Amino acid sequence: MWLHASDAEMRRMATEARSRFHKAHTCTYMVMRIINYTNVCVAQCDYCAFYRLPGHSEGYVLSREAVFAKLDELLELGGDLAAFNGGFNPHLPLSYYCDLFAAIRERYGDALEFYALTIAEFMYLADHAKLSYAVAAQRFQEAGVRWITGGGSEILTEDFRARHSKFKYTVAEYFEAQRAIIDAGLKTTATMVIGFDETLEERLEHLERTRQFQDETYGLASFLCWTYKPYFTQVGGIEISTAEYLRHLALSRIYLDNIPRIRTSVLTRNEDALRGLLYGADDFDLPIEDEVTQKAGATIDLEFGKILNVARDLGFEPQYRHVALAPVVADLSAG
Ligand code: SF4
Repeated sequence: MWLHASDAEMRRMATEARSRFHKAHTCTYMVMRIINYTNVCVAQCDYCAFYRLPGHSEGYVLSREAVFAKLDELLELGGDLAAFNGGFNPHLPLSYYCDLFAAIRERYGDALEFYALTIAEFMYLADHAKLSYAVAAQRFQEAGVRWITGGGSEILTEDFRARHSKFKYTVAEYFEAQRAIIDAGLKTTATMVIGFDETLEERLEHLERTRQFQDETYGLASFLCWTYKPYFTQVGGIEISTAEYLRHLALSRIYLDNIPRIRTSVLTRNEDALRGLLYGADDFDLPIEDEVTQKAGATIDLEFGKILNVARDLGFEPQYRHVALAPVVADLSAG
């Protein structure tokens, strides 16, 4: 399909697959902010322009007051979803995270929801605290955490990780941690990043592993793919085209026939991402901040009305999706 189908065929098949889960001409969105609470990281992924090694003069950790100020601003701008994403900071104990998340839950209740960590950070924290993934997930749940998302996956093949992020985790470990998160009653998602030097076979392996994992767990609420930003990174490279991204979205929608929500990335493709709605996507974020991708060249447009009008011009009526209130995932396990 990837090699031989035309764009029009990909669109048609992806739209057909989308129609099994979503009404035509509708889509959902959220206003959210990614809070990069620390940029100190020991993983040294060669595609990352964000991290600073421990001891670097530009390393930082946000204070609790600074986090609250960002969350207050998010609510003022009409958003209600925050996603925490930082580095593998060896100086931050598990208690820093549990105390922070408990304080957020106490202060905001259900007025906003937050994605507490990515799976990659979760694994580092559990290992650093010498806890099993199951016990670590339990600790976070007790601190008021409901979501640990599938970030840090990039391309889920062992070869890719050996080439680019050898101090991160193996694919097997990644899924082991995600399974523990689901077993603990927390919610999670699937992600993917394309546009490095990955081969088509590696992209397909990522989709296949994700699909198999969903068949086994039915725990993945959504799938989000974004594109690598190569600016100021060690490994460099050239950004892939929007056309390639859209074809990949279509392929993902068709391949991942057990994940209801396929999301398109405004963060890395700006308005062009909205065309993903024609290629099988049904949902998108309007982000107000993400230092990780902005450091590598992403630009954020805060004119939300203008972006929503792009969706309308394409024939879709966008509806706000409140993560705190909405059902997480269709119950596919029943049949
Ligand atoms: S991608 Fe994440 S884990 Fe890798 S170096 Fe950057 S901050 Fe660290």
